[in-house]
Amino acid sequence: MNILILGSGVVGVTTAYYLAKQGHEVTVVDRQDSPAMETSHANAGQVSFGYSTPWAAPGIPFKAMKWLTQTHAPLKMSATLDPFQYAWMTQMLANCTESRYAVNKSRMVRVSEYARLSIDSLREETGIRYEDRQQGLTQLFRTEKQIEAVQKDIAVLRDFGVDFQELDIDGAIQYEPALARVKEKFVGALRMVGDQTGDCFTFTNKLADLCKEMGVKFMFDTEIHGLEDKAGEITGVKTSAGTLKADHYVVAMGSFSRHLMKQVGIDLPVYPIKGYSLTMPITNYDAAPVSTVMDETYKVAITRFDDRIRVAGTAELSGYNLEMPQKRLDTISMVVSDVFPEGGDIAKAEYWTGLRPMTPDGTPIIGKTKFSNLSLNTGHGTLGWTMSCGSSRLLADLISGNETEIDPADLDVSRYR
Ligand SMILES: Cc1cc2nc3c(=O)[nH]c(=O)nc-3n(C[C@H](O)[C@H](O)[C@H](O)COP(=O)(O)OP(=O)(O)OC[C@H]3O[C@@H](n4cnc5c(N)ncnc54)[C@H](O)[C@@H]3O)c2cc1C
Repeated sequence: MNILILGSGVVGVTTAYYLAKQGHEVTVVDRQDSPAMETSHANAGQVSFGYSTPWAAPGIPFKAMKWLTQTHAPLKMSATLDPFQYAWMTQMLANCTESRYAVNKSRMVRVSEYARLSIDSLREETGIRYEDRQQGLTQLFRTEKQIEAVQKDIAVLRDFGVDFQELDIDGAIQYEPALARVKEKFVGALRMVGDQTGDCFTFTNKLADLCKEMGVKFMFDTEIHGLEDKAGEITGVKTSAGTLKADHYVVAMGSFSRHLMKQVGIDLPVYPIKGYSLTMPITNYDAAPVSTVMDETYKVAITRFDDRIRVAGTAELSGYNLEMPQKRLDTISMVVSDVFPEGGDIAKAEYWTGLRPMTPDGTPIIGKTKFSNLSLNTGHGTLGWTMSCGSSRLLADLISGNETEIDPADLDVSRYR
């Protein structure tokens, strides 16, 4: 089959890989000049299967009210004139019940556990390296209250068979020795044993190179304007390079998927949740993290690459703008300077912002649509890289008509009807 993939972020490129592996002729179209130039560019670097949890959880509405008044809070919101912002927030709040959380969490775990198997075999089959490490994730607590509060999450981890360790601060130092320098600031930790790390930009670009060797074509600098349809089928994609035609079309345009789908009457509840990151060179390897360390108080993740430290966080609802207000950058700089004060050179930090394509229930939207030849792989939110290999491998099987290795039911867009 001739297949057009719209979007060359980590989701579009992993989709291209799994489809090409199944023998399809694949072309990837993107407005940027190379892969992973938007949200997949400088994320936190966690491949965090253990952390695959919906943001919409019991207790979040109360916490959100508190966060909105704090300076260095994990959640920020600016009122916009876009009614979709409020409709999306209403849908998200409706997902904060115990029962909705359980359903959404189980869907996310299904995709991310499959993603774990898929990225492990992808590394084995291809030898792809992306400053990757397989050394777990350490979530740090500054108060006993946080340790009490995390017991609920621990019960969920147990229910879903996720491998974890509850540690006191000395236990955490065994895995992250640099924390010995700041040990008085923390009271304990939770370690996700099976989590991994790496640079999503390098991963996506190296995978795109492998795709090219497999015959995948990439059309960059090409703006996608809309879809043409007739009698229940997509007949073409209108782009700045003319109308492109294929047997099947996959939309993997991250936070911008919603605009395209609206034109053909599909209402995708994917909202751009803005986040920020900084990347700085390591100056003292003994004072740097070994893997990802997550500061629970600020929900900021600090990840070790080979010679660099990546720091990322903040969930901001403020529409599609990519402005970087200094006070947001101050939060991530403050946290890394507090946790790894001598690890890197903050004066040389490069700052970045990206828009997480977020669904109100946290689960990505994977599968076919009302058009027989149009599929979606989008809405991966906070952990898009983590879930990408699982969602893309699943979608490739669905498009090829193969028996799928995990249950695809309730992952496609019809769950919002
Ligand atoms: C601060 C931050 C930290 C994060 N940390 C992590 C993490 O540690 N681990 C993790 O797993 N995930 C993390 N995420 C989430 C993850 O980065 C995203 O879920 C993922 O990158 C989404 O990938 P995507 O391919 O769907 O979207 P994108 O990477 O945005 O790709 C979409 C592509 O579509 C193209 N496109 C859009 N509109 C058009 C158009 N009209 N015409 C042509 N092309 C178009 C864009 O150019 C882009 O290349 C983080 C996100 C942020 C913001």
